[in-house]
Parts: sequence; C-alpha cells; structure tokens
Amino acid sequence: PLVLGIETSCDETGVGIVRGTELLANTVSSSVEEHVRFGGVIPEIAARAHLEAFVPTLRQALDTAGVTLDDVDAIAVTSGPGLAGALMVGLSAAKGLALAADKPLYGVNHLVAHVGVGLLDDAADAAAAGVSGGGQPAAVTELPPGTGALLVSGGHTEILRVRSLTRDVELLGSTIDDAAGEAYDKVARLLGLGYPGGPKIDRLAAEGDPEAFRFPRGLTLPKFVGTAEQPGKHRHDWSFSGLKTAVARAVEQFEVAGRPVPTADIAASFQEAVVDVLTAKAVRAAGEHGITTLLLGGGVAANRRLRELLAQRCADAGIELRIPPVSLCTDNGAMVAALGAQLVAAGVAPSSLDIPADSSQPVDRISV
Ligand code: ATP
Ligand code: MG
Ligand code: FE
Repeated sequence: PLVLGIETSCDETGVGIVRGTELLANTVSSSVEEHVRFGGVIPEIAARAHLEAFVPTLRQALDTAGVTLDDVDAIAVTSGPGLAGALMVGLSAAKGLALAADKPLYGVNHLVAHVGVGLLDDAADAAAAGVSGGGQPAAVTELPPGTGALLVSGGHTEILRVRSLTRDVELLGSTIDDAAGEAYDKVARLLGLGYPGGPKIDRLAAEGDPEAFRFPRGLTLPKFVGTAEQPGKHRHDWSFSGLKTAVARAVEQFEVAGRPVPTADIAASFQEAVVDVLTAKAVRAAGEHGITTLLLGGGVAANRRLRELLAQRCADAGIELRIPPVSLCTDNGAMVAALGAQLVAAGVAPSSLDIPADSSQPVDRISV
C-alpha cells in the first residue's frame, strides 16, 4: 500500500511516503534552532513551528515521491506519546486530509514507528553496509522472530520486544528518570557546550580520556518486579539522574579549586558511563528474552561510541544489530508511514476521526 505518514510529536515536522517497504519520500523540518536559547524543547514553540511547517513539508514530500493525495491508500499519523500540543497539530492536519481526500486514517504509536522504520529497504541496506557489517543488502519484508529494539532519544530510553509489529510489542525496560539524550543535553549544559548536547559531547569525548573519571552506572542489577501478572520477571530499567549529579559534582570541584574544568575528560567519562550501561542492559535483556536481532533507534543512535560498543557487545552475544541511517533514526514521517503500511497490510481497522492526542500512549497501544 501507498501510505503517507505524519510525525509531529516533538520538534520535528515530518512527512514520509512509502509504498510497502519502499521509501519514496522523507521530508523533515526541525524547529531545534528555535529551542537553542532555552536549552531544551519548549512545547508551545514546537507546536507553533509544526503549524507553520506542515503544509510546505507535505508539499515537498508529495513532490519528491511524485504522487498526489488521491494516490495514497491511507494516512498514518503519530497519536502519541509526545508533547500534547505538538501531537494535536499533526493529528488535526491528518484528520483534515483524511476527511477531504476520503482516505482511512491510522493513529499510530511513535515508539513502535521507530521500530517499524527497520522494515524499510533503505534501513536494511544501511544495516548490512554499516557497523553490524558483513551481510548482503537485502529487502526486508518482515521483522525476524526474536526482534528487539533499543530506543534512545531526548524523550525516551526503552528496550522493547517485538513479536509482531502490528499486534504484539512489549516494554522490557525504560528509564526511571532522565532519558539518555536528555542526560547528554543536561551534561552539555553543565559543561557550557550548548544545546543539543549529544553531538557536542560525542565530538568532545573523542579528545578525552573515558577512564579519567569513574562515573556511576545507575541500576546496574536488573530490578526484580514481582507483580501478579509477571511473577519473577526482571525489568531492565535505567537511571541517569545520579550520573548527571555526579558530573555536576565533578565540575563543581574544579571550579571551587579554581582549576580549569577538564571538559573533554568529563565528556568522555560521562559518555562511557551512559554507553556502558545502555549496552550492557540492552544485551542482558536481549539474552533473557530470546532477542536475536536488535534494532537501534532514536537520536542518540547517532552516537559513535554507542554504535561501536553496542556492535561489539552484540557480536559477542551473537545478536544481529541493525542500525538504520541517522535520518531514519531521528524523528521522521517515513517511520510513521512504514508502520501505517504494515497495519494496512495486516488488515487492521482504521482509526476513527475523533481520536485524541495521547501524550503518554503506552507502547502496547500500537494503533488507536
Ligand atoms: P523523541 O524522544 O520523541 O523521539 P527527540 O526530539 O527528543 O524526540 P530525537 O530527535 O530522536 O529525539 O533525538 C534528539 C536527542 O538525541 C537529543 O537529546 C540529542 O542530544 C541526542 N543526540 C543527537 N546526536 C547525538 C549524538 N551523536 N550522541 C548522543 N546524543 C545525540
Ligand atoms: Mg527531535
Ligand atoms: Fe522519537
């Protein structure tokens, strides 16, 4: 099916168009520059930016794909999780288009869409050519059994088991406080590097010693959760707020002593702590839950040290790692379209035209 996907959950206005697993267009307009002076995403600014960027982004995606609204079989849109006001802009636009062009509407889960992007042919090609190495580029039409996903972005840090992209996605663990990208952004601020902090720390860390400081790895042991529904199950949660505090203390000590802050060493040591605990727990969760193919998604997937250590630890554990190109890892409309196409193909019923924005939509609500 030919599906148009709309993403407005955070600060990227994305419109993507796919035909099945073939990517036809992926147009993204980001308001990140407008948030720089605030050091983080301001929800109302993001929502207003979506309002202004939406139609130009849609036009460009349709032009690139060489299709019209009449041609599409369905419209998919992120219904949550995300910033409520930002989600509402995309949802309103999608509903208007669905009504005017008389197309079925699919409200989809943003996190599951991050996983669905792994089905696109471009994502498979990049994985085969990338750090996971070796394999032949091959078109992927369904996720292999035993697929998991590690999603790391400014708003999320989650490990998922995906038995079926359209029917069965389970949360195995998530952050209990800051998201990994958020920790990067906060530490970058402490080091005076500016927003967004991830790319800046990534670059600076390359010049520093990752063993200069031994920063804490939060929640290193799997937490025991003995609920009635899940007796004796381990969840693989992360915590990054203690790490952020430890970095703040270290910076403070240099400042109090009147000595220059060794920003490169701190950046490298902070990054090593984040990446160590992210990869260790993802691989352990994978082992416990029979995950043999792991997909990496979210903006932090751009991080070079994360890619390197995750590739190494996955290889050691016999897990196949797939890392889509960065343009498909960060928020975009193509991932929403990709999931929409799977839902259409699976015969899932479309959404009604009165669906709400669900800022905390749980990962097992794949479509609404
Ligand atoms: P959501 O959480 O809803 O997916 P988001 O806008 O917070 O949305 P993304 O746009 O996917 O997330 O990613 C942005 C985050 O990724 C920021 O926190 C940024 O600092 C981080 N990031 C980007 N590049 C890198 C990098 N090279 N290393 C580490 N973090 C990075
Ligand atoms: Mg973003
Ligand atoms: Fe996202």
